[in-house]
Amino acid sequence: MRHRIAVVGAGPAGLTFARVLHRHDYPIAVLERDPAPDVRPQGGTLDLHEGLGQLALEKAGLLTAFQALSRPEGQAMRILDTDGTVLRDWQPRPDERANPEIDRGQLRDLLLGPLDVQWGRGVTQVVPATRDGVLVQFDDGREETFDLAVGADGAWSRIRPTVSPVTPHYTGISSVETSLNDVDARHADLARLVGNGSLAVYGVNRALVAQRNSGGHVKVYAQFRAPLDWHANLDLTDVEAVRSSLLALFDGWAAPALELLRHGTAFVHRPLHVLPVSHTWTHVPGVTLLGDAAHLMPPLGAGANLAMLEGAELAESIARDPADLDQAVRAFEEQMWARANSWAKITTSGLERLVSPDPRQALALFDQVQPS
Ligand SMILES: Cc1cc2nc3c(=O)[nH]c(=O)nc-3n(C[C@H](O)[C@H](O)[C@H](O)COP(=O)(O)OP(=O)(O)OC[C@H]3O[C@@H](n4cnc5c(N)ncnc54)[C@H](O)[C@@H]3O)c2cc1C
Repeated sequence: MRHRIAVVGAGPAGLTFARVLHRHDYPIAVLERDPAPDVRPQGGTLDLHEGLGQLALEKAGLLTAFQALSRPEGQAMRILDTDGTVLRDWQPRPDERANPEIDRGQLRDLLLGPLDVQWGRGVTQVVPATRDGVLVQFDDGREETFDLAVGADGAWSRIRPTVSPVTPHYTGISSVETSLNDVDARHADLARLVGNGSLAVYGVNRALVAQRNSGGHVKVYAQFRAPLDWHANLDLTDVEAVRSSLLALFDGWAAPALELLRHGTAFVHRPLHVLPVSHTWTHVPGVTLLGDAAHLMPPLGAGANLAMLEGAELAESIARDPADLDQAVRAFEEQMWARANSWAKITTSGLERLVSPDPRQALALFDQVQPS
């Protein structure tokens, strides 16, 4: 028995779901709003954990391919104080495979593989329980019906309102992202400072994190406590104005940290929003959510991992018991909520400690999760 299943969103959640169903020869429509796969940069690097993202890739038959692409050396972590003193310098053992890094673009290409994604198909809403199933409505006015519509469409999901009235709220912490290209040749000192993995500097209510991506690329995240409208008098498209504003925010920090901002090529503002820690909903037959659409949480290394494992588990659960689609989805939701709830607690308290009035909290958190 083959149900008509659609997944909305070709991010880590939607693609892993589709890829595992594809492995079970189960047909699936992948509906993605982006008009083409290369229409926007995919963003920085992701660490995929054993037992979460790596388990999902195993279920998709992609673990070996991931191991060939990923960067175990990217697990290295150096922490500085705002004077530039090195407080921690953690290097992974050569055989350490707990959380290797992979560029988002590489992961996306790996997951895409043979999938036939329908690009340029933005969904506006879904209507459950129509005579012919779940009605999916598109932004070009077209409509299609399915037996199951899976919302894997991220933080600002258009599917979520069908099951839950809850919307994301601002954490009180904003992030501005910038990048350095060709870092080994053009900024050799900064390249050495960042090393093969991540560099973090924690100050009072501020943090600066730099992460090496592949191809000599470094992403820098400046995070700080501020009201949502902190940029009211700033033109966010004016690169030099944003740079000056960040340099003023991080004034007094030692040169290496500030150099990362001075050499950044463009700036992207990302206010950090989250869903409530224990977000669940009353089951709606024919509709469910995966990943950030279900449980948006602070970006502390869990979101993509959970999104992928959920995608893999829902797919396996449907393939295992195709006769009772609704029961497969219900059982999956219970499992997802329990795990996401505990990670939402961990990441919420983690963010409070990493961007904290007391920077010693950040160091204590590192020592707790990464004892040397
Ligand atoms: C700076 C930063 C760093 C992070 N680092 C990590 C990390 O190291 N490890 C980790 O596990 N997590 C990390 N995360 C979190 C992670 O990025 C997310 O949790 C993850 O991307 C969620 O995947 P998803 O598939 O649920 O949603 P998304 O990745 O948001 O994908 C949603 C997809 O749906 C599409 N879409 C949206 N709306 C529609 C629509 N209406 N119709 C059709 N398609 C639509 C989008 O175009 C997109 O392709 C980080 C997040 C940030 C911001």
